[in-house]
Amino acid sequence: MLIIGNHVGFNKDTQLLGSLNEALSYGANTFMFYTGAPQNTVRGKIVDGLTLQAMEKMKEENIDYSKVVVHAPYIINLANGDTDKFKFSVRFLKEEVERCAILGIKWMVLHPGSHVGLGVDAGIDNIIHGLNEVLVDSPVTILLETMAGKGSEVGRNFEEIKRIIDGVENKDRIGVCLDTCHLNDAGYDVTDFDKLLDEFDKVVGLSYVKCIHINDSKNICGSHKDRHENIGFGTIGFDNLIKIIYNKRLEDIPKILETPYVGEKPPYKEEIAMIRAKKFDEKLKEKLEED
Ligand code: FE
Ligand code: FE
Ligand code: ZN
Repeated sequence: MLIIGNHVGFNKDTQLLGSLNEALSYGANTFMFYTGAPQNTVRGKIVDGLTLQAMEKMKEENIDYSKVVVHAPYIINLANGDTDKFKFSVRFLKEEVERCAILGIKWMVLHPGSHVGLGVDAGIDNIIHGLNEVLVDSPVTILLETMAGKGSEVGRNFEEIKRIIDGVENKDRIGVCLDTCHLNDAGYDVTDFDKLLDEFDKVVGLSYVKCIHINDSKNICGSHKDRHENIGFGTIGFDNLIKIIYNKRLEDIPKILETPYVGEKPPYKEEIAMIRAKKFDEKLKEKLEED
């Protein structure tokens, strides 16, 4: 069964129930969310009543909650050796892990970090050090996202992901989240995804992949830009994304759209419908802009 959803909001009043309802309104059967604003540290208290209501509703709707993922705030940067920032990142990531645990979330996607001029080797050492502090007895598995290689981002190729995983002591709590836009922008040919998966399997191991972000890209392969485009409107194209989404080797893995709003409107209901029908609607953006 296709497990498809998108990035949804999480607000302090409706919490997980609100996120679920938003996902359902798009016809999704999974979703990803931040537990608060990704760019600040303000976090409200988790209300267990709302979590339980959401869990009940997911059962009714046949949603497998064990595959719903949280995205860690992007202000976390474990690659930065600057002691205060590093300490802040570790502490905040630990708090996010606790929040995931309270919510019953198993998987959290994390950008490995940016080395900000320290160099890749130092960046990787810092990331490993930070992850080992966070993952000691973590109930949550952290999924390292493959990055586009913008600026000094670490995790821009499979070898860097592999080096980080090698340094992590608690191997049961580390995994990977692939992102189609990032892979393309990092220089991987996503039009032959079986070949890409073969390479990933050889370097890292396919069993580490627990989630895949499905995004088209505004830029060409190898551009190192990281600008997401709506499904079928970018350089990867609809047919190639469909091949990735329906790849048998990724069947049980949740697919999450992080495509941009069109004007003020979320495109997810229409994009999920196109994906289910395997039919591209080239007028989609025009239509969303009109009404
Ligand atoms: Fe991300
Ligand atoms: Fe992503
Ligand atoms: Zn991105």
